[in-house]
Amino acid sequence: MRKILLATRNAGKIKELKKGLQGEELELVSLLELGDAPPFFEGGEGYWGNATGKALFYHRHYQMVTLAEDSGLEVDYLKGKPGVFSARFGSTSQQRNQKLLKLMEDVPWEERGAAFICVMTIADAGKIIKVAEGRCRGIILTELKGEGGFGYDALFYYPPLDKSFAELTTTEKTRVSHRGVALQKIKEFLRSGK
Ligand code: IMP
Repeated sequence: MRKILLATRNAGKIKELKKGLQGEELELVSLLELGDAPPFFEGGEGYWGNATGKALFYHRHYQMVTLAEDSGLEVDYLKGKPGVFSARFGSTSQQRNQKLLKLMEDVPWEERGAAFICVMTIADAGKIIKVAEGRCRGIILTELKGEGGFGYDALFYYPPLDKSFAELTTTEKTRVSHRGVALQKIKEFLRSGK
């Protein structure tokens, strides 16, 4: 069975990646399970730069086929912010959500559009062998809704399912989300080599 390193410590991302790759004849191990993994410092060259840099860094360190991703939330009204800095928009997830709510106070529903972006990449044999992107559009809610998911999920309303991302099961979210869309392309690549 092919072994793949999931280069993240984010428990929410790990859960979604493992669910999305279920049944693929892959042995998956994440940085959380490896414990002593060195930190990767994002250089701020955008999602592609961060995702490819992270994949190569951990691939070289562990000598394993490595899947990495970088993602973020781009809010139209905030001209694409927090974007690639989504994880650093505040010090805790709660603070990040409260900051976003405050910035969006009094913004009408029609102007609350946003997109989640994910760039996912695989490193093997010393180089990047695949990059895939996924996007998903939704609307920033005026209050938190739902208990599941992670990050900004409770503020991201997804109109086709009439639910916030935090109200979806992991399977439902992975079917439609930015991460799920990118992962689908990665899965096709892993199966066919193209
Ligand atoms: P990074 O990819 O580690 O830089 O972190 C991306 C950040 O974007 C996460 O820490 C979350 O705050 C946010 N984010 C990315 N994907 C999702 C998602 O699926 N749901 C909620 N927040 C997300």
